[in-house]
Amino acid sequence: MLDLSRLNPEQLAAVKHTEGPLLVLAGAGSGKTGVITYRIAHLILNKKVPPDQILAVTFTNKAAKEMKERVEHLVGRKNCKGIVLSTFHSLGLRVLKRDIECLGYKKNFSIYSTADQVGLVRQIVREVNSSSKKYDAEQIIFRISGAKNKLIPPDRFTPNPTDEVEMMAALVYPRYQSALKAYNAIDFDDIIMLTAELLQHHPKVLQHWQDRFSYIMVDEYQDTNSSQYLLVSSLAAGCGNLCVVGDDDQSIYGWRGADVGNILDFEKDFKGCRTIKLEQNYRSTGNILDAANSVISNNKVRKAKKLWTATGTGPLIDLCIVQDDEEEATSVVERIQLERFKKDTPYSDFAILYRTNSQSRAFEEQLRFEDIPYVLVGGTQFFERKEVKDTISYLRVIANPMDEVALLRIINFPKRGIGDHTVIRINQWSLENEVPLFEALGRVGEIEGVTDVIRDKVLAFHDLLIDASERFHGEGSIAEKGKDLFERLGIESEIYRTIDDQKAARRKVENVEQVINSMAAYEERVPAATLSGFMEKVSLMDEDRFSGKDKKEHGKDAVTLMSLHSSKGLEFPFVFLVGMEDEILPHKRSIYEDDSIDEERRLCYVGITRARQQLVMTRTLFRKKYGKLQERVPSRFLDEIPPAVLNVIQSGVVKETSEEEAEKNAEGFFAKMRAMMG
Ligand code: ATP
Ligand code: MG
Repeated sequence: MLDLSRLNPEQLAAVKHTEGPLLVLAGAGSGKTGVITYRIAHLILNKKVPPDQILAVTFTNKAAKEMKERVEHLVGRKNCKGIVLSTFHSLGLRVLKRDIECLGYKKNFSIYSTADQVGLVRQIVREVNSSSKKYDAEQIIFRISGAKNKLIPPDRFTPNPTDEVEMMAALVYPRYQSALKAYNAIDFDDIIMLTAELLQHHPKVLQHWQDRFSYIMVDEYQDTNSSQYLLVSSLAAGCGNLCVVGDDDQSIYGWRGADVGNILDFEKDFKGCRTIKLEQNYRSTGNILDAANSVISNNKVRKAKKLWTATGTGPLIDLCIVQDDEEEATSVVERIQLERFKKDTPYSDFAILYRTNSQSRAFEEQLRFEDIPYVLVGGTQFFERKEVKDTISYLRVIANPMDEVALLRIINFPKRGIGDHTVIRINQWSLENEVPLFEALGRVGEIEGVTDVIRDKVLAFHDLLIDASERFHGEGSIAEKGKDLFERLGIESEIYRTIDDQKAARRKVENVEQVINSMAAYEERVPAATLSGFMEKVSLMDEDRFSGKDKKEHGKDAVTLMSLHSSKGLEFPFVFLVGMEDEILPHKRSIYEDDSIDEERRLCYVGITRARQQLVMTRTLFRKKYGKLQERVPSRFLDEIPPAVLNVIQSGVVKETSEEEAEKNAEGFFAKMRAMMG
C-alpha cells in the first residue's frame, strides 16, 4: 500500500483528485513534481490503473529521468512497466514514428540539429538573396522556429515588412521546409509541430493516442508553447483527466515562444477544473526563501503567492566579491574542497549555475586542474563537434540515405579525391533529374563532365555506403559495426594526418571513440538496439557529458555545471550562483534590446530556489573581455535581496578601500576564517 502520510493536506488533495482537470499552481520547492509522482503511484497502486495508460510529460531528459526514478522508488520497478514518462520531444517522436507517413515522410527520417539547420539555411539564403545584405542564419532560424512554435506553416507566415530578417525568413521558410521533406528530415520544432498536425488532421491517429492514455500529467506547465499546448490538450480531450503543475514565477522560456498564458488560462480552457495551491516550501532554508521571495516580488505581473518553510533560517547566503573570472573559479573550487574537508560532502551535492554556457569554461578548467569530477549539462554539445558530426554523419546516411546534409558532409571525408567541383556537378544533375543525391552517386556514369577516374571514386564511395548499410541491417552489435566501419574508413589516421597539434588530434580521436562507446552503452540499455534507435537517442540528447575519465573513476559522484535554464526543477544541497553582474544576469540583451528584465528576474528566482541548504553567489570586479580588463557592475537583483540574509565576503582586493569598505572586508575576511575553522 502506498504511504501518503508524508503529504500535506493540499498535496494529498491534488494526488487524490484523479478525475477531471486539475491545476496545481505553486511556488518553487512546494512539491509540485512530488505531487505528479505520488499521483502516478496512487493511480497504479491504489486505483489499479494499468501503467501504460499513464502519460507524464516534462521538459528535459534529466527531469524525466529523475521523475522515473522517483516513481520507481514508490511503486517498484516492475509496476512501472509501460508507463510513458517523457519529454515533449520524445513523446512527439513516439507519435511520429508510428504515423509520420500520413504526412508524407518516411519512417526512417533524420532529425536535424541546429548546425544542420544553419548549413541548410545558409545555402537557401545564397539561392534567394538578390541583395548584397548579409543575413545571420541563426536569426532566420529563430524566426522560423518562432513560427513553428505557434503552428504557423510556411504559407501562412506573414512577415512584418519593416523587418528585413523576417522578410528573408519568409522567403527561406517554404524552401527550407520542402528541402527538409526532400531529405526525409525534420528539425527540433517539427517534432512538436508535426505531431500536433498529425493529431489535428488525422482523426484515426488522434483516436489511437486518446485511447492509449487515460491519465495525463504535465510538469513545468508554465513553459509550454502553443504547439505543446495543442499537443497536450488534444490528447487530453479524450479522457479529460489532465493534471498540470507549474509556477508562473518560473516561466523562463518566453524567448522561445512559451506562453505563460497557458497556465494562467487553464481554468478557462478546461471547464470544471479544480485549482490547488501549495504554499509550504520543503526544499530551502528560510534565508534562501527570503531572498527568493524578495527578488521575485519585484515583478509586477504575477499571481501572488506566499511561500513559507518550517526548516529554520539556516546559514546566511554568501556573496563573494572577487577580483576577476579566474579568481571566481578558484574561489568556488576552493569552497567545494573546504566543504568536503569539513563534512565529507559528496561532489554531487554541489552545483555551479550560470546564465550563459560560455561561463562554464573557467570552472571546468579549475575543476580539471584540481582533479575534481564534474558533469557538464548542455553547453557545447558533444555531438556538435566537428569530428563527432563527421563520424555520426556516416551513421545518419546509413540510417536514412535521403539525408543529404549528412551525405554532403562525408562525401569527401576522409579525403577521397572527390572535389567540390564534382560534388556541385552531381548535385546539379540530381536536381535537374529529380533524383535523390544518393541515387545520383550510383548513377554517376550517366553524368556528363565527370572523368573516369572520378567516376570510379564516386562509385567506390557509393558501394561502401551500400555495403555498410547491409551490414548494419544484419544481426550483431551496432557498436562493433560502427567500430569496424570507422576503422575501414581510416578516420583516426585522417585526423592525425590533418591536424598538426597532436594533443588536439588525440582528443578528437578520443571523441570518435566516445561515439562507439555511446553506441555500446545504448546497446547495453536497449534490448533490440537498432541504428535508427541510436540516432534518435543522439538527437534528443541534451545532457550528461561527463568529463572523459571521470565517469569511470568516480561513478556519478560529480559536481554539476549547468545553465540556469537547465537547472529548472532540480535541487542541490549546495548551489553556487555565479556571475551575479548586470549584463550577465540580467543578460545584456534583456537590458538593451528586448526589455525582458522580468524574465531574467524569474531566472534568478529559479537559480536561488535550487539551493537546499547553502547558496553562494559570486560577482567579479573585473572581467577579461578580448584580453582587456573591464569593470563590472553588480547585478541589480542583488539589491533586491534583504541585506540581513547576506554575508558579503570580499577577497583579493587591490584597490584603495574606504573605511566603510575596509570594515566590510574585514567582516568578510573573518567570516571566511570562521568558515574555514569550521
Ligand atoms: P520546482 O518548482 O523547483 O520544480 P517543486 O514544486 O516541483 O519545485 P519538488 O521538487 O516536488 O518541488 O519538491 C521539493 C522538495 O521538497 C523535494 O526534495 C521533495 O522531496 C520535498 N517535499 C515535497 N513535499 C514534501 C512533504 N510533504 N514532506 C517533506 N518533503 C517534501
Ligand atoms: Mg518541479
